[in-house]
Amino acid sequence: MACITCNIEKLGNEFPPSTVTENCFHPILCCLRCTMKAVKETSKCPHPDCNQPATLADPTLKFFQAILDGMFKMYDVTDDYIPTTPSVVSGLKNGRLTISLLTGESFTIYEFNPNMEVLELKSNVQQKLKHDVNKQKLLYRDK
Ligand SMILES: [Zn+2]
Ligand SMILES: [Zn+2]
Repeated sequence: MACITCNIEKLGNEFPPSTVTENCFHPILCCLRCTMKAVKETSKCPHPDCNQPATLADPTLKFFQAILDGMFKMYDVTDDYIPTTPSVVSGLKNGRLTISLLTGESFTIYEFNPNMEVLELKSNVQQKLKHDVNKQKLLYRDK
């Protein structure tokens, strides 16, 4: 898939995991880098005919920036009522893992260790957020 802005053929994980704003009703056609650049310069969603206002201070754009920084693991936590709530797992320090959701919720897992099984981590998240393990999708960004 080629980005509509830079015209470069990109992989799926080089595109944003969600639209720039909740009011976007278009497919995601602009790559992460172009999206960040456009929002920074124009304070709008870069997609043609969209023009929804957006700023780099929006949680969604911070989330995109974190993806670009490649310093985290990402979850899509879904349940029957909330379609998709991507969240950023960040701040891994001294065995503490901080997970922030776009809904504004965040929590810390204190006994995190990098070798923790995915399922173990998911059940930890489930305990904290009451999201069903089977409905969580864990995405790794492999370098
Ligand atoms: Zn691009
Ligand atoms: Zn848009």
